[in-house]
Amino acid sequence: ALRIENLRKSYGAVPVLRGVDLAVASGDVVAVIGRSGSGKSTMLRCINGLEPFQDGAIEVAGHKVDRSSANLRALRREVGMVFQSYNLFPHLNVAENITLAPRVVKGIGREDCIALVREVLGRVGLADKAGAYPEELSGGQQQRVAIARSLAMKPKVMLFDEVTSALDPELTGEVLKTIAELAEAGMTMVLVTHEMGFARRVATRTVFMHEGRVWEEGSSEEIFSNPRTPELQGFIAPNL
Ligand code: ATP
Ligand code: MG
Repeated sequence: ALRIENLRKSYGAVPVLRGVDLAVASGDVVAVIGRSGSGKSTMLRCINGLEPFQDGAIEVAGHKVDRSSANLRALRREVGMVFQSYNLFPHLNVAENITLAPRVVKGIGREDCIALVREVLGRVGLADKAGAYPEELSGGQQQRVAIARSLAMKPKVMLFDEVTSALDPELTGEVLKTIAELAEAGMTMVLVTHEMGFARRVATRTVFMHEGRVWEEGSSEEIFSNPRTPELQGFIAPNL
């Protein structure tokens, strides 16, 4: 579903990604862990075509990621991304937030919109909130609406960047549960997370990034129970 080869990216003279290789098969759930500044968000943004990169290749669902705007448009239909800040439109209700992109980009009609809203809100456990405005929802609910909005585009791959770090601890659980259910349902996902227990439990594979490289990767069980490099050992130890 996703293949990254020798991805290199610098900001000015500062290298941030120094040759990242990663292959994600359909149905894989890949957790990306690593210290602040190791390049996790930059990698996701490159995958989604949000950041230009200097060298290497990325292919998502058969689309090459490059600067051509036609390719980027095709890419955005295949890849959903959810960030830490959910950025719902405050003046639109939940249903309108969810259907905005599908209506504009895919030209979906009214009847189909109603069915779509019902389907994606069901998947995030908010079937009764279609008419609510963002300010009437908790942070956790808003983040789940943001996930539903991404799902409405029927992406082949979902990217999550620390989607729970802005939430109070008591709201984190409901969002992680939603993501775990998507994983269960077979969605291909790459998720950057600081929730080590969640990564271990839900991700089929875990990738440890260090200094702009994939430093160590393996099954989540392997990575957490038997880290090989001192860098990963040092990263995981205080988190356990
Ligand atoms: P965190 O866990 O804190 O989110 P991260 O692994 O996601 O960290 P990135 O956000 O990918 O790290 O940043 C990697 C490096 O690139 C950092 O050193 C950061 O300062 C630098 N960087 C990120 N965005 C920019 C930018 N727009 N301009 C210049 N430098 C940047
Ligand atoms: Mg980040």
